[in-house]
Amino acid sequence: MYRFIKSSTKFKLLCRSKTLYRSAQSPYSPNSILGKEDSSFIHKSKLESWNQSSVRSYSRSSSSESDSREAINYDVVIVGGGPAGLSAAIKLKQLCQQKDADLSVCVVEKGAELGAHILSGNVFEPRALDELFPHWKQEEAPIDVPVTSDDFWLLSKNRAFSLPSPFHNKGNYVISLSQLVRWLGQKAEELGVEIYPGFAASEILFNEHNEVTGIATNDMGVAKDGSRKENYQRGVALKGRVTLLAEGCRGSLSEKVIKKYNLREKGQGQHQTYALGIKEVWEIDVEKHQPGSVLHTLGWPLDQKTYGGSFLYHMKDRQVAVGFVVALNYHNPFLNPYEEYQRFKRHPAIRPLLEGGIVLQYGARCLNEGGYQSIPYPVFPGGAIIGCSAGFLNVPKIKGTHTAMKSGMLVAESVFSTLQEGLKIEKFWDNLRSSWIWEELYTARNYRPAFEYGLYPGLAISAVEQHVW
Ligand SMILES: Cc1cc2nc3c(=O)[nH]c(=O)nc-3n(C[C@H](O)[C@H](O)[C@H](O)COP(=O)(O)OP(=O)(O)OC[C@H]3O[C@@H](n4cnc5c(N)ncnc54)[C@H](O)[C@@H]3O)c2cc1C
Repeated sequence: MYRFIKSSTKFKLLCRSKTLYRSAQSPYSPNSILGKEDSSFIHKSKLESWNQSSVRSYSRSSSSESDSREAINYDVVIVGGGPAGLSAAIKLKQLCQQKDADLSVCVVEKGAELGAHILSGNVFEPRALDELFPHWKQEEAPIDVPVTSDDFWLLSKNRAFSLPSPFHNKGNYVISLSQLVRWLGQKAEELGVEIYPGFAASEILFNEHNEVTGIATNDMGVAKDGSRKENYQRGVALKGRVTLLAEGCRGSLSEKVIKKYNLREKGQGQHQTYALGIKEVWEIDVEKHQPGSVLHTLGWPLDQKTYGGSFLYHMKDRQVAVGFVVALNYHNPFLNPYEEYQRFKRHPAIRPLLEGGIVLQYGARCLNEGGYQSIPYPVFPGGAIIGCSAGFLNVPKIKGTHTAMKSGMLVAESVFSTLQEGLKIEKFWDNLRSSWIWEELYTARNYRPAFEYGLYPGLAISAVEQHVW
């Protein structure tokens, strides 16, 4: 059902060069602006009237579109259908329901469907979800494997030494993040958010006052040499009174905006640092499978100067997420994170678990490691940056889903009061700094820097900090 909705939505956007499609079934489509339409397709002339009639809520002047790119106006345009972007969209629509307001919200996602670019297998802290959907358990959220054990091993070449776990995973869940994202997408659509999967936001649009006014999707049908093929189609401009960037770690548009408006300097944040995370989902023998079991390791096969380690999370259905993270400031130019990952799986304490199993999925992504010290000022003229685009990942926990969601919810509150009550969106920065995200990242701020002295000093300093201060 959901796949069908996605592909038809994609079809709508593809159709927009000739016609504007509007879902006749959706009670939340912009019909409230135009009045009910019987037809599913509205011809191009109607696009202009739609743009004019939507002026009632779209007060910002639009950027000059010098070429023939079509423009669709929204109150809020969100780039990225991950935990941050979807939580922002949901919270905005929830506020609309509570306060009897009407804001049009769209999410553009470059993955072919929601969750397609999310790496599965995640230990999920439900704090933000508890706030967003207090009854998520009754609403069939795909979260049903509580953490049952939480181990932390230091590996030497042939042995594993158990250490006290610093991860505090009691009350957390082992989930598939892509499934959770799809569920959030369903919830967002039920609330009236328009989601466009399969389209990358490739350009930021500005007006004559240097304010962001939305994004443009990429042109289609461009040959490798840059020439236009027969099926060439100009991208679509999605214009928003507010644009939210929720692209995840090192988002391309977010980085441009951070640079253009000097947001790192403005937030007094230092440069961001990164790690590479490789993850495989394995199906293993049923007798070895322990749903809810969580294991993290440090040490071998990495040398003592290279920060990184592994994780093994037992999900349901005999599946285990097996991952390896390597900080990208390693000194040895010959180190190959993928080879290190292969060596890790052959460790005598790990290999027996995987023997006889098969790999179902694999992928790799970068993650932020700068933490508290690297957070940029997240507000720019016309919008804000949220989630891992802004770097809210908690490094010692290797968790950023709950902070990404919370940042989306906080920005939604600021955006709602900006659009409805004329308050400044800059309030997001204050709200962020008085939220539990800030408290959490501040507490964790020295963990990662301690490992710059090497593995054992890092373990010692972080243990002292955790247990003494
Ligand atoms: C290996 C690894 C393991 C992890 N394990 C955990 C864990 O166990 N627990 C935990 O809480 N967190 C974990 N994280 C971190 C967690 O995945 C992130 O913190 C979280 O996904 C951030 O959410 P987000 O919405 O900010 O970004 P993302 O989840 O990255 O979502 C961004 C979305 O935006 C889309 N996008 C990007 N650019 C564009 C564009 N220009 N146009 C359109 N769409 C775009 C992407 O396709 C993606 O779907 C892990 C991360 C990695 C890499």
